[in-house]
Amino acid sequence: MSKEIPLNPFENALNQLKRAQKVGKISDELLERMQAPEREIRVGLQVAMDDGSKRIFEGYRVQHSSARGPYKGGIRYHAQADMHEVKALALWMTLKTAVANIPMGGGKGGITVDPRTLSPGELERLSRAWVRALYRNIGPKVDVPAPDVNTTPEIMSWMVDEYEKLTGDKTRAAFTGKPIANGGSEGRDKATGLGGFYVFNALREGLHIPASATVAVQGMGNVGGHAATIFTTHGHRVVAMSDSKGGVYSAEGLDPTKVEAYKKEHKSLEGYPGAKTISNAELLLLEVDVLVPAALENQITGQNAGDIKAKIILELANGPTTPEADDILFAKGVAVVPDILANSGGVVVSTFEWQQNLASEHWSETEVNNKLKELLEREASNIFARAKELATDLRRAAFLVALERIEAALEK
Ligand code: NAD
Repeated sequence: MSKEIPLNPFENALNQLKRAQKVGKISDELLERMQAPEREIRVGLQVAMDDGSKRIFEGYRVQHSSARGPYKGGIRYHAQADMHEVKALALWMTLKTAVANIPMGGGKGGITVDPRTLSPGELERLSRAWVRALYRNIGPKVDVPAPDVNTTPEIMSWMVDEYEKLTGDKTRAAFTGKPIANGGSEGRDKATGLGGFYVFNALREGLHIPASATVAVQGMGNVGGHAATIFTTHGHRVVAMSDSKGGVYSAEGLDPTKVEAYKKEHKSLEGYPGAKTISNAELLLLEVDVLVPAALENQITGQNAGDIKAKIILELANGPTTPEADDILFAKGVAVVPDILANSGGVVVSTFEWQQNLASEHWSETEVNNKLKELLEREASNIFARAKELATDLRRAAFLVALERIEAALEK
């Protein structure tokens, strides 16, 4: 039995830093600096509800590091979102923008809310309230938020509109992940899933994964849904998919488009024809080449890591694997392609969107995807080589590369 104590995500992130420090040269000063976000903001948002009452929601923005550029990171709407989670996600953004070598720092935001309980009008008023509370702290050259779990292009559109009303800024560069008609980038919706695929493809042979692999995807939102489709389009077999309530499995392979259409119609995967119903816990333990966690944190822990049968884990969610699980998986020879590399496609194309807004340009989807591919293949190969050289795992290698870049920026 594992003795792992449940950790909050920020403690997990700090333990990941300490794991990396053991294999490379990272100064204690830098580690201390990473432990202390530059700014943590908590706001109370009062929203008029449809029934005439007023409710207060708790909102957050953590500005973790501006060493390499403006703070960058999504806004999460979730019933369990809290300061610990937002801080962890902000720290991972600092590392992710450094791994991708884009001119951005790290930040993250959130609101403690289950958006499914709000009407569209309430959701819009809540989103605009977040901007009114925080507009003095963000902006195109300061802090550029984006979508995350449960935040959509439409929400980003309300936010950028509110920001323009309050500041007069017409660049639309204060938020990314906007709809294309309102300053969004081609390719942003698919970017995290597609980027994950480019990283996978760059490392596939080195990780001894066959050209036609079996894949299980946990979570079928923006990231997991696109990833499942992209893997299928490129000749891989997606055998399992899930949402928050559970999943479906078919050894012959699922058609992700049909699974998504079924979920849309029935609001659940239960009863999907020709497939077996499985739990999320079972999905994680399937015998597949590639396991893709694309939902929330702390899915692969000391409790279940020993039972993982996948050959590799491609982390498209943020923080799905705890440090104790990392040690178990490394000892078992299961390669974990870390979130800060595997899911960095989203922030890379968000940065492309910001650059296009500032330059009043609009790039084609082909141009966006080509730039994304080139960048991620280069950084993935670099981290793979570093891990080999240090005989360590890909997460520690990615942390080292990121921390070296952050340290170089701080020394300037
Ligand atoms: P989303 O809200 O679009 O989808 C989340 C999905 O996870 C849904 O299918 C939901 O049903 C499922 N889910 C929720 N709780 C679950 C649970 N307990 N077990 C299994 N499934 C569960 O969110 P998203 O944008 O796809 O983000 C997913 C993950 O990817 C998050 O960790 C997010 O931080 C990370 N991420 C997102 C982006 C992006 O561009 N959207 C970029 C980088 C990382």
